[in-house]
Amino acid sequence: MSQMASAAYTDLAYLGGTRAIATTPMVGQPVQPYPEVYVPGSEPIRDGELRVTVLGSGNPPPTRAQASGSILVEVGNAERDLFIFDVGSGSLANFMSLGLPINSLDKVFLTHLHADHTADLITLFGSFRKAGRQGPLHVWGGDGSEPKFGTKVALDAIEAACAWDTESTRGFASNESTVLVGAEFDASVTSVVYETNAVTITAFPVIHNLHGAVGYRVDFAGVSMVFSGDTHPCWPLVHAAQGTDLLIHECFPSAATLAAVTGDSIERFRTITATHTVPKTAGKVFSLVQPRMGALWHTFLVPAVVVPILEEVTEVFDGPVVQTQDLTLFNITREAVVARQVQAAPQAVATPGESTLELTYSTRPEPPGWWEEAIIPDDEPAPRTHHL
Ligand SMILES: [Zn+2]
Ligand SMILES: [Zn+2]
Repeated sequence: MSQMASAAYTDLAYLGGTRAIATTPMVGQPVQPYPEVYVPGSEPIRDGELRVTVLGSGNPPPTRAQASGSILVEVGNAERDLFIFDVGSGSLANFMSLGLPINSLDKVFLTHLHADHTADLITLFGSFRKAGRQGPLHVWGGDGSEPKFGTKVALDAIEAACAWDTESTRGFASNESTVLVGAEFDASVTSVVYETNAVTITAFPVIHNLHGAVGYRVDFAGVSMVFSGDTHPCWPLVHAAQGTDLLIHECFPSAATLAAVTGDSIERFRTITATHTVPKTAGKVFSLVQPRMGALWHTFLVPAVVVPILEEVTEVFDGPVVQTQDLTLFNITREAVVARQVQAAPQAVATPGESTLELTYSTRPEPPGWWEEAIIPDDEPAPRTHHL
């Protein structure tokens, strides 16, 4: 029997660890064993499988070790669909290291509009077009208490901010890739917001700062995962997550741990943790949901916080728990849930993949008249002097 080993709680990937940090990294028995480490390109997703990769596990300012919030879901359906839940700063660098087709990364689900969950949208919309993204980009997200706080207004503003970038790609990028399609839904109720190619995505309301924040559940072929987004523990999540295989729930260190680690005042941290989830209550949520595997996410990872987080969660919940890091990867099948770390390629070449769309192209914009005099040609000798 293959036995997946987990890393010690202090064995973080950016300190050289190669395995997932978990109380136990495997539940059930996979049909075929998985290698100890996930090497991009070496394991095609299996039919019927959900593969979930944490692209961003950290706090609002990204670091070299941790991008900001983002979760990738690969689906083992005929289309090999990709879904991305939040696109925090730096998360797409981690996506690139997986070697997956950029053309398939066209469905984004936002949990809320904090900048650390949305900042790489411009990268996906603008920069990934230059790396081969050809079709429209579809983005789903909640409404606001008034229109200006909703997803639609935010997406219109991104489109406007990218006007120069978009115009500059005319002629060599497809017209379809310049289209940003927004779908805004009522964030106060649990509802199905996507149902195509055997994948169902359900949004449910969560409690985080303002109206409009949601979490998501993905169901496919009898397996599922739930992603909390940012939230204080709440009942809509517990109800929506019943029977799930993997629950990725946000979890900050307790105010006491943060005060002890930083030497700062405990009151300051109580204000922050009030809009988030502390370990003992994350454990309570796991106990109420009973996922096959519970995963913690959205923490500035240093050994001094990981150890108390896992100790406090496991005092309340005795099922398997993973502390996710950037590029922690989960294979979910009916037989097993397995957590591993990706051996990332730091300098991956973009993989466009195929587009099934009929693409159209417009002509390049005319260059400004003054360029003709100002340009230094590639293939002709440059004059010794220049008079302008
Ligand atoms: Zn937030
Ligand atoms: Zn956040």
